[in-house]
Amino acid sequence: MRITIHRGTDQIGGCVTEICYGEHKLFIDLGEQLPGTHSTEELAVEGLTKGDTTKSALLITHYHADHIGELLKAKPEVPVYMGETAWKIYQHYEQRLTYIPETEKALKHKQVLERIDNVNTFTAGKTFCWGNMQVTPLMIDHSAFDAYMFVIEADGVRLLYTGDFRGHGFRSKALPKLIAKYAKDIDYIVSEGTNVYRTVENESEHALQGRFTEEFRKCKYNFVLTSSTNIDRIFSLYHAAQRASRIFVCDHYQHQLMKIVAKSHENYTMFYKTRDTVYDISRKKNGMFLIPDKLLRLMKRKGFCMPIRDNEYFWNAVAQFDGDDDQAVYYSMWRGYVDAQHPAYNPDLKEKLDHYPDYKYMHTSGHCDIKTLAKLFRQVKPRKGIIPIHTEHPERFETLFGSIARIILLQDGETYDCN
Ligand SMILES: [Zn+2]
Ligand SMILES: [Zn+2]
Repeated sequence: MRITIHRGTDQIGGCVTEICYGEHKLFIDLGEQLPGTHSTEELAVEGLTKGDTTKSALLITHYHADHIGELLKAKPEVPVYMGETAWKIYQHYEQRLTYIPETEKALKHKQVLERIDNVNTFTAGKTFCWGNMQVTPLMIDHSAFDAYMFVIEADGVRLLYTGDFRGHGFRSKALPKLIAKYAKDIDYIVSEGTNVYRTVENESEHALQGRFTEEFRKCKYNFVLTSSTNIDRIFSLYHAAQRASRIFVCDHYQHQLMKIVAKSHENYTMFYKTRDTVYDISRKKNGMFLIPDKLLRLMKRKGFCMPIRDNEYFWNAVAQFDGDDDQAVYYSMWRGYVDAQHPAYNPDLKEKLDHYPDYKYMHTSGHCDIKTLAKLFRQVKPRKGIIPIHTEHPERFETLFGSIARIILLQDGETYDCN
């Protein structure tokens, strides 16, 4: 078995990994680079974006753009594998983007929709084969829903590919059990290391939810700027609103996303059950939501939580409550977008947010902290080594985890022979 990280040995966005055995190639993720990333070279990968692809397949860990955003660069005949709910969420998300006014961008989203019209879905815990390689997907907790680690085995070598994951989400408790059951006798871990430069421990989603509940009790009109596909955060806000006796109002698109998740998961947990107590609003043409008078009266009487995104419809909805002491705006996303020092800085978003100088930052990372990584590595005890990926600080792995296993630092494009 051979591993090549085509991109991602020293950056977070745009990871592409190849696992090769015999003539068969399994690629994992084909993402977009984050804004401001140094590598400007066009990605050209034999068996994926060019050349003979007859023995290639592409596995997607999850639907974040830094993992799937360059999907169109894969040759059209390469089969794509992803989780079923993740696939449905991604379809719904891309569908919405086909309506954006910029024609070129809208066209790209139409092409993505066509490309994913026909994907192969895998099931958590169910092993499937590609050539003589065996793949077992393990569902893990991340800020994208239905996200996966993979155990890949070939020629007596067993590898755990972590993908993006965390230990402080609502569903993270399952991880040690999954590892104990499926990830025995591992030789190599290819591990994400997004947060290895940060020494602080992450706040749990549960604790964050508690803080939201308190805030919603204090203020009546709550607007939370968050990602529509950060599904567990969305449901967490829903439950926080319920506990604070506020109603939950979102746009139709967001409600449909919640329904996709509920349909596939409400039989396993009450967390994704909303018992039809979500109020959804649709758009009028002039940048305003159509909020029926009856709903508006209810919103004013009971108070509400509304997850919002950065577009004129939502900012106009927030503005309807300007000047009211009971209005509260929360920023529940990565800080980089509103940090002028960061390459991913979005000045337009910051300007909108600055209309509400008292806005509260309430967020916790989708990625694990150092303690969680160490715990995973200690449990798995890889026999041959740990290969960092999805990190700007691969060299930190040696100091942090060098006592647990050998750290193997690769360069982008370098092929490592596992045998
Ligand atoms: Zn991610
Ligand atoms: Zn990522």
